[in-house]
Amino acid sequence: MNKPIYLDNQATTPLDPAVLEAMLPYLKNKFGNAASIHHRYGREVKEAVENSRKLLAESIQCRPRDIIFTSGATESINLAIKGVCRKYQNKGQHIVTQQTEHKAVLDTCAAMEQAGWRVTYLPVDAEGFVSPQSVYNAIEKDTVLVTVMHANNEIGTIQPVAEIGAICRQENVFFMVDACQSFGKLDIDVNEMNIDLMAATAHKIYGPKGVGFLYIRQKGPKVRLEMQMDGGGHERGFRSGTLAVPQIVGFAKATELSIDRKEEENHRLGSFRDKMFQKIKSSHPDIILNGSLEQRLAHNLNLCFPGLEAESLIMKMKGVACSTGSACSSANLEPSHVMKALGRNNEMAHSAIRFSLGRFNTEKEIDIAIEEIINTVSLIKQKSLQHRLVNG
Ligand code: PLP
Repeated sequence: MNKPIYLDNQATTPLDPAVLEAMLPYLKNKFGNAASIHHRYGREVKEAVENSRKLLAESIQCRPRDIIFTSGATESINLAIKGVCRKYQNKGQHIVTQQTEHKAVLDTCAAMEQAGWRVTYLPVDAEGFVSPQSVYNAIEKDTVLVTVMHANNEIGTIQPVAEIGAICRQENVFFMVDACQSFGKLDIDVNEMNIDLMAATAHKIYGPKGVGFLYIRQKGPKVRLEMQMDGGGHERGFRSGTLAVPQIVGFAKATELSIDRKEEENHRLGSFRDKMFQKIKSSHPDIILNGSLEQRLAHNLNLCFPGLEAESLIMKMKGVACSTGSACSSANLEPSHVMKALGRNNEMAHSAIRFSLGRFNTEKEIDIAIEEIINTVSLIKQKSLQHRLVNG
């Protein structure tokens, strides 16, 4: 049987062959430790790391020294939230965030609550937007950090981060952005957006798993962090541990490719996404779009199929690999916290499916997927109708 069509690119993306090519020398003979600068083996990989750092920095308009390599966005987020809160605990113990953040942020905030911090979880509107005014209203004298994601991983809604950043700067509060889903796909300028801390990861942009970065503003204002990892003082003390050179080189290559192709890819995937929505809607007019139509990631489509169970629909669609939302919570029977935040009731929340498209999807694949989705939904509806007729 053919492999199912991969429409789960917001969970993770396949490695781009050009990324693998760039990584290979660092998995073979360029194996040195980037901290061993007294010999050639170390120096050649140190140079590769610094070139990668420079490229990543340029992509968000910051300086190379503002970029700290980590094992991924979850670690970056933990380092940022715990690091900043612990360093500034004398200023206050209050964090502001919003309800549709990824678990990496929500669970880290919950850990800070356990340690005695107060956290305000702002509600979102029916399309998933948090209002900048509500952020302003939530900031108190002892607020240390505001953390709001750039784009949502389940519904693709793009938050007004520049407006929120301006408020944070004016109110003298640090602003962190989880940019996992937007990095390489949307324009990011940390200065224009007044972002002080930002987390990104390589495996959402056709790079390797196990590498991310944290942007830490060093000037205007300087953000200080309490380190979370004791050790050799790598990454200027922010993150000890031998650098994963092949992953870092792959991350930079993936970023370069994503930025070069951003417009073309957003356009192409956006048109595939719109086609999917229109075709499914014309066969099944009862479906409901989750999230905004305008301020949305081009490759995200999230739909409620009223009366159907998303889990069983996904299992029946053997030819399409998609998910109910975040990969991290798909083992969880609780309805998605994002759906709940949009105001969906439990039944509706359990009917939501995320289709996330990617670089390697072809139009032919999209057409096949559309057909399978439409047919499977029809089949389940027919069966449940027959069941109701037989059982009265
Ligand atoms: N934040 C968001 C919005 C995500 O989508 C993800 C990945 O699923 C993460 C954080 C965690 O990233 P990582 O897998 O690099 O730890």
